[in-house]
Order: sequence, then C-alpha cells, then structure tokens
Amino acid sequence: MNPEDIGRLFYMLLDTSDPTIADRLMNPATLEDCLLRIQADPLLDHTRLYRVARARAAAMGTENYLEPVFQQDFDNYLAEMTDIGRMIAECIPHRYVLTNSREAMCIETACGRVIVVSEVLRYALYFMNLAFGELYGLPSVPDDVQGHAMIVAARTMIMTEALDFDLDPRGIVPNDIDAFLRHMTEWQMKFVIGHEFSHHRFGHKGLGLRMTRPIRNDPGEGKGHEWQSYKRSWHEEYEADIGAIEEIEGEDSRKLISTAAILFFLYLEFFERIEEALDATLADIDTHPPTSERLRNVVDKFGILIDVDWKWAAAQLESIQDHAKAIIEIYNDDPNLLLEYGSAYLGSWKGPDLIDRVDY
Ligand SMILES: [Zn+2]
Repeated sequence: MNPEDIGRLFYMLLDTSDPTIADRLMNPATLEDCLLRIQADPLLDHTRLYRVARARAAAMGTENYLEPVFQQDFDNYLAEMTDIGRMIAECIPHRYVLTNSREAMCIETACGRVIVVSEVLRYALYFMNLAFGELYGLPSVPDDVQGHAMIVAARTMIMTEALDFDLDPRGIVPNDIDAFLRHMTEWQMKFVIGHEFSHHRFGHKGLGLRMTRPIRNDPGEGKGHEWQSYKRSWHEEYEADIGAIEEIEGEDSRKLISTAAILFFLYLEFFERIEEALDATLADIDTHPPTSERLRNVVDKFGILIDVDWKWAAAQLESIQDHAKAIIEIYNDDPNLLLEYGSAYLGSWKGPDLIDRVDY
C-alpha cells in the first residue's frame, strides 16, 4: 500500500458508516469538511485520544468517532442569542476538538474560517469549579478533594494530564455536586463560545494569523499539525468579552453567564500564574490582554446584575493568586506534581484503582 492508501484506511476507521468519510477528510471541499479534518487528525495522531473517541462512539451506539459530544454547549448558546446574532453566528462552522490544545479559536482553513473550542479547557474548568465551589454556592467539598481538583485542573491546562477523563474520571463525584459542576462548566463554555461568536459578529479583522501548534508538552505520541489562528487586538478581546454576555437576552441567563465569565477569568488567572512559574514563555502575553483587566471590564459592566463589585472581585483575584502560589510551592519541592505525564486523582474521592488497558 502506498502512503495515500494507508492514510485513507485510517480516515475510513473514523466513521465506517459513511463511505465518503475518507474522501471528505483527505480532500476537504467544504467548510464542514475542513472543520472535520481539524477534529480528525489529533485522533489519528494520538492513540489515547483515538481510544477515547472509540469509547464514546460505542457508548452512543454509533460508528462515527467524530460525533460531537459537547455540541449542546454551542446549541444552547445559539438558542439564547438574539435573532440577528444567531443568524450571523450560525454562518460559521463550530465544533469542539479533542486535542492537546487548550484554547478556543478562530482558525483559517483552506476552505475559510471555522471556530474550534478545546475540550481540554472544558475539563480543566470542571475541576476548577470543584476546587473553588464556595465562590458560587457549591455544597461543601472536603479540603483534600479541593486541593487535588486544583492539581488536576492545572495539569490539564499544562497538558501533562492524560486526556482520557471519559475512561478514567479521576474520582467519584457525588451526583448532586456533579450536576452543579456540569451546569457551571456549561455556562463558562457558553461564555467562551459566545466570545468567539462575538469576534465573528463584530467582524473583527484581528492582527493577522499566528501558527498554533495544537500539541504542547506532548509525551512523544506524534508531531501533530499546525493551525493558523487569528491573533486579536486587546480592543477586540474586550469587545468580544462584553459581546458574549450582551447577546444573551434572558434575565436569568444573563446573570448566569455573567457569573460564569467572572469565575472563568479568576480561574484563568490561576492557570496563568502556574504557567508563568513553570515557564515564562508559556504565558500568552501577546495574545490576550491582562486577565485582571478583562475581569474588571466584565465586573464593571455586569457585576451589578449579580451583586458583585470590583472590591469583591479584586479580593477573589488575590485569593486565587495565593492558591496558585501554594501549588507552586509544592511543585518547587516536587516538580513531578505538575510535570510528570499521567493521571492525578481527587484525593479521598478517588474511588477504586483503575488500570489502563485493563479497566478501560
Ligand atoms: Zn478572543
């Protein structure tokens, strides 16, 4: 077999129910095909991601490994948008991607622009919501579980945590708490999705394209492909943050997305502090404005809806920086805490040991 035939065979494996899938992925002719290709390549580059996709397809009773799993976040955000906003947003194909990239971004493909949102970010936020539940009224969680949740979240964002949460959920979270976490995580992702839709809706031109390598700190599972994503001006970022919330008209929903956005920026501050301590070059200083300014912008405009002011937000920012410092201190004594590739667990909520390739 020549390399093209081998490539075709691999692409066919991703959806044996669709005889056109290999052609669509190898020679993408539409925006949807180009987007699908972005989703497909990481699954073929990484055995672990492929196994996750296979397990998901089996759970859904489909042959299609590219069936989106969290697509309802997009649908639910679109459903709450203004009619005009929705019409514009629906024009740009959008999808979650399971890969070692942690951002949401607008990518320029051979067929045009698409929005991709990283599942990595979604998982990291879930664990941050568990760690910092007191910020939004989560029923009490043991201290050791909170501490471990911070570590899982930090490792997820710096790409040392294996991306197989579907197979090995890192612990047993009680159902009522899990429902809280899922709800808040979904709203945070809706804010992130709304931010990307806002760039599109406002016609932001960006500051040109940057090469984005979806693989970072990868433990040698493959080289991956580079994507061309848009570099934004600070002004565009501030405008997209506000636009993501303004587009949501319902009173209750606007309160929820405001809370979600404020928590999102607090968590982002935590991640940035950890990354700076590990490697100053990891800080995305040239792609986004300072997180504290983005937080302040949102608090000044929407804080009143949820009885939050800058004094409160600044105190929380300081508190979350202290938590990041505490994690960094432990890391300084034991670098493996953050840098060793593998899986971290939720302390006393860990549950039984699961063995890779035996239990999942
Ligand atoms: Zn942006």
